Amino acid sequence: MSVTKKDYYEILGVSRDAGEKEIKAAYRKLARKYHPDVNKGDKRAEEKFKEISEAFAVLSDPNKRAQYDRGGHEAFGAGFDPFAGFDVRAAGLGDLADLFGGMFGFDPGRSAHRAARGNDLKLELSIDFMEAINGTTLNLRVPRQHACSSCGGRGELPGSGSAVCPDCSGQGRRTQPGLPFAIPCNRCQGRGRLAGPPCEACRGTGRRRGEENVKVRVPVGIKAGSTVRVAAKGDAGTAGGPPGDLYLKIRVKDHPLFRREGDDLVCELPIGIAVAALGGTAEVPTLDGKTTIQVPPGTRSGQRMRLAGKGVPAAGGRRAGDLHALIQIHPPAKLDRRSRELLEEFRERNERR
Ligand SMILES: [Zn+2]
Ligand SMILES: [Zn+2]
Repeated sequence: MSVTKKDYYEILGVSRDAGEKEIKAAYRKLARKYHPDVNKGDKRAEEKFKEISEAFAVLSDPNKRAQYDRGGHEAFGAGFDPFAGFDVRAAGLGDLADLFGGMFGFDPGRSAHRAARGNDLKLELSIDFMEAINGTTLNLRVPRQHACSSCGGRGELPGSGSAVCPDCSGQGRRTQPGLPFAIPCNRCQGRGRLAGPPCEACRGTGRRRGEENVKVRVPVGIKAGSTVRVAAKGDAGTAGGPPGDLYLKIRVKDHPLFRREGDDLVCELPIGIAVAALGGTAEVPTLDGKTTIQVPPGTRSGQRMRLAGKGVPAAGGRRAGDLHALIQIHPPAKLDRRSRELLEEFRERNERR
């Protein structure tokens, strides 16, 4: 147990307000200089390495640093272990791997055994206009990596791989002569137990590609271009790592009568010239059938008649939208003789120039 009375900041040669990066950089530099592997048999270098490592272990931990800033060495009681909870990998010293190489350099050939989160999957699909309005449940066939059923996703031959790692006695970390802190165990990759021979079905990856039925709940009133997330239905993780998520981008097909404006709907409402001029009734298509509205006298093309609450239905605390009937005045396509006479007379009386 090394008890140093020297100031931690002085040891690392940084100021008291040095940032995380600066502290890390200072330690990196000194660690390269005093590392026991570089100074074999040099007791003073070994002591120095211990000293800088202790200073770094305290100053790189925000809680310990705050404690030290308030009370100095006295802030820590007897039996204080500056390296408790210290992890060289978590401390972001991965770039010192060449230095600690013989001790915690990981063998990339075994990386298939490392647990990692699966990829997110992204798919796009079109649904009908009414499905977007009312919500729907989609039953999709999704090609994805799923956990291997033979090995349960662990990537190891079933029934193997439970042996406790003899190098670290299952701790995943071990001590090394000359190093004052524990380092991740190289033999078991920090897992504490030895990886068994690879599963034959998945060649050790813990997952296999295939199509899977996935049920997706599309919410009421979903807007075109929205994305629905389906948790855990992306690719399975490797070696028992968590799965990714599935993201579905929803496109919505056009409707012959309606179009969306947010939660409102718009439909065209053709009316005759007489109803436009005199007023009258008109039939408006709605999501649940038809309804009759009163058209006031003197209604113009392009005017909107609002039918409150007849848009996208209310859901999830959201109010129902409105339906807007967009007036289009249609002259009669064909005129019988009498109608022609009446209109000609109308023109004479009203539109003569
Ligand atoms: Zn397998
Ligand atoms: Zn081990």
